[in-house]
Amino acid sequence: MDFPEGLAELHTHLGGSVASEIMWSLAHEQGISLPVKDYWEFDRLVTVSDPRGVPDLDALDAIYHWSELIQSSPLAVERSIHGAIGGAYRSQGITTLELRFNPMKRNRGGERDLDHIILAAIRGLDRAELEYPQVHAGLILMMDRTFTPEQNRIVIEKAIHWAPRGVVGVDIAGPRPGHRRYDYAALLPMVQRAREGGLGVTIHVGEEGGALGGEELAEVVTVLRPDRIGHGILAATSPALMEQIAAAGIVLEICPTSNLLTKAIADEEALCALFRTFVEHGVPFTIATDGPEMMRTRLRDEFELLLRIGALDEAELRAANARGHSASFLGRR
Ligand SMILES: [Zn+2]
Repeated sequence: MDFPEGLAELHTHLGGSVASEIMWSLAHEQGISLPVKDYWEFDRLVTVSDPRGVPDLDALDAIYHWSELIQSSPLAVERSIHGAIGGAYRSQGITTLELRFNPMKRNRGGERDLDHIILAAIRGLDRAELEYPQVHAGLILMMDRTFTPEQNRIVIEKAIHWAPRGVVGVDIAGPRPGHRRYDYAALLPMVQRAREGGLGVTIHVGEEGGALGGEELAEVVTVLRPDRIGHGILAATSPALMEQIAAAGIVLEICPTSNLLTKAIADEEALCALFRTFVEHGVPFTIATDGPEMMRTRLRDEFELLLRIGALDEAELRAANARGHSASFLGRR
């Protein structure tokens, strides 16, 4: 399939968006002690290298540990953002790109100043804009489910403060503390603040967790009412929830290969059924990678996969890509 207007990528993490060779050099330039001495071993360390995927999301967090550690300096953040945007255009034909990252997971526990980290990201964005003027790119700052409310509040305030320079939205991700249900409703003041500050709101929820994940998703849809939801695939089990999502115009950011690799979706057959269910119920969605380098995919390949397995036809895929451009928070700037 050909997309003359370019592809739109709304869900990709900085920790999974930078090519291994750049990460390898960044690790060495900063003298980071690595558990491997060979580049190819490193490549396996920072990507989902087994085509059968990882056992669960915890295994994915173990990979993020390394990419976040390597990206934890102003220099590394600038180079990573710059590399991710250039890579998205060169190897994936992406022209609308939102890159998300948690600045507080890149300041070595407060050792580095948060504003320096964020401004370094903005410098990377500015440099990429000069080299690739065809790409409209923006940053999403992330809160974390393991953070205290105060830490998350600071992330939101930083996002609002730097919005005029390219921060377009906020998000939350990370493992659930103690594998207990996360209290999303407690985020409402933060989400309202972000919204008042003109930022877009997307929330990681409903990716896995069975009944618990389903409850979280329902709470997010009802209480937080974000513009978009990262994954949200558990909605497919509830016609009432799908109706609510469709009525509210909440866009799901679906990452097919990522969900297959983490076993959030069992197989291609289940993936196909998922998309047919969303189409039937009028649930709006976009297609994304979650991190092309870490997932060893390209956004173009995600479209080809969905076409090949009969999940979506060409017209539906074009509509999903068009929705990606229009549902981007970049349009608000
Ligand atoms: Zn994600």
